[in-house]
Amino acid sequence: MNKTAIITGGARGIGAQTTRVLAQSGCKVLINYHRSKAEADKLAGELCASGFDAGVFCADVTVRSEVDAMTAFCAETFGTPDILVNNAGIAQSALFTDITYADWQKMLDVNLTGVFHCCQSALKFMLPKKSGKIINISSVWGMVGASCEVHYSAAKAGVIGLTKALAKELAPSGIQVNCVAPGVVETDMLSGFSPEELACLKKETPVGRLGNPSDVARCVLFLSSGGSDFITGQVISPNGGFVI
Ligand code: NAD
Repeated sequence: MNKTAIITGGARGIGAQTTRVLAQSGCKVLINYHRSKAEADKLAGELCASGFDAGVFCADVTVRSEVDAMTAFCAETFGTPDILVNNAGIAQSALFTDITYADWQKMLDVNLTGVFHCCQSALKFMLPKKSGKIINISSVWGMVGASCEVHYSAAKAGVIGLTKALAKELAPSGIQVNCVAPGVVETDMLSGFSPEELACLKKETPVGRLGNPSDVARCVLFLSSGGSDFITGQVISPNGGFVI
């Protein structure tokens, strides 16, 4: 694919693997990071050393001016974005009655408003071309809800609603918007879970294992490729049968 891709939160976990897979498919990749500078630089270095085109850009997805600077940098350095992967996200486990307004606001800001900012900013470049692929990373919890993760579930359900509505609005402009809603994937995001809790989640997964970042990255690659041109507004859930 001779395309340019921006991957938010692309320095770690699912984002990093998605970056690798897109670079290996021929995309120029811009790795967005917020706090993970060392990981972002390491990944870009690794990809450039292998002959791929990769760069990094620091931006907090909740700050519009930083997001606009990121898409402008992408356009100047690698070309206007063809693919936007809204992967940046945070999680928190807490009883609903313990969630503070600040917790709620932060969860919505990063996981949902961040998607709003990045989509609007990238669309300034995609709409004139009448082509583009937006892939939003939601979660199974956005589909079915998780106890003790009400704010996370609400934000991720919001991402699904945004995806469906935006897909309808942008389809006539040649832009597809889809969602990948992973099940439990082994990344830093699971650091709050005990080994017993992870074993329990594995037991509840029909294929008998937890997901890995490649399971998700492969779905993103498909939704970024021309093979998915007739697919828009859909939710693909790599979850090992956890939610059917
Ligand atoms: P992770 O914590 O390794 O990655 C999240 C990334 O988002 C990090 O690089 C982090 O720096 C970045 N980020 C956070 N806030 C940011 C901000 N304000 N601006 C820019 N970047 C920011 O976790 P992960 O598991 O790789 O998560 C990636 C995505 O997948 C998230 O949206 C997450 O909700 C989703 N997801 C993860 C799982 C799982 O089980 N790991 C399951 C379903 C969905």
